[in-house]
This record gives sequence, C-alpha cells and structure tokens, in this order.
Amino acid sequence: MSVRYARTQAEKLVDRLGMSSVPVDVEKIAEQLGLPVMYADLGAGVSGLLISDGAEAHICVQERDAPVRQRFTIAHEIGHHHLRHQFEPGHHVHVDRGHYVSERGPRASDGADPKEVEANRFAACLLMPMRLVREKVAELGGGPLLDHHVSHLAGAFRVSEQAMTIRLSSLGLL
Ligand SMILES: [Zn+2]
Repeated sequence: MSVRYARTQAEKLVDRLGMSSVPVDVEKIAEQLGLPVMYADLGAGVSGLLISDGAEAHICVQERDAPVRQRFTIAHEIGHHHLRHQFEPGHHVHVDRGHYVSERGPRASDGADPKEVEANRFAACLLMPMRLVREKVAELGGGPLLDHHVSHLAGAFRVSEQAMTIRLSSLGLL
C-alpha cells in the first residue's frame, strides 16, 4: 500500500463510474459503492466516521461542517473503505478529527499515520481527478495560473482553495 496506489485507485474509480463533470458527486460515489452517507452532530472536533460491521459499512459526516469540508470527509472515508484499510476485524468505528484539510496536514506531514495519508491522497484525487483538472485548466487559456484562477477552480470542483493549490502543484500545474 502506498500513496501512489491510493492515487491510482481513486482515478480508476472515477473512470469506472463515468464521472465526467465537476463537481464530482462524492455522495453518489459512496452510494454506488454501497456506503450510505448520513449526517449527524458528531460532537466537537469530529468531522467523520467510517462505521464498519463485517461486510457492511457506512459513513457519518459532521452536519455542522461546511459543505466543502463535508465533501472532503466523505471522499476521505470512501478512501479508507475502498483501499480496504483494516482498522480492526468485525464491528469498528473509525473516527476522523479533521486534521486532514489537506494531504499535507499535520498528521500527513509527520508521516506517523500512513492510512490517513493514503486516505487524504485518495480524497484529493477523487475530488480533483487529474483528467478533469487538466481539462478545466486548459479551458482557462493556457497562461500561468493566477490566484483568481485557483479560486475559480476551487469553486468549480467544490473544494477548498488550499486543497486545490496543493493538487495543482502536485500535478505540476502551478
Ligand atoms: Zn481517516
């Protein structure tokens, strides 16, 4: 397992499900994978849960978070599920506390938690698939990307500007 594997799996999933427009409908992807998404007040500091019970799983999202954050949470939990991260056998609740605004967030940068790093990379690639990012960037005319372009792209993909900036630079577009 590696971040490269996580990236490839996300891109393959987007292609397989025929996601060809933005913003990518992450909730629909979750449902197509048999992962129902629920919203609830999860308490302070908790952004999402992946609740597994044998073969069954579902996602619970912090209802108090902004939609952009909720989308990242859903994509991150899909990542844990799709990459078959086994936290513990049987019934298990994985709790995410939202330190993953970006794939270079605190936990990612210290490298202490490889599953979180992989889930974050997966989420970034699911929300901002390479092909669609390149397509949208090309529509901007091919000049250097300026701040307002990044804002525009973040809006189109419904992600944070920080997440978009990191994605663009990892694709060598910034
Ligand atoms: Zn996680």
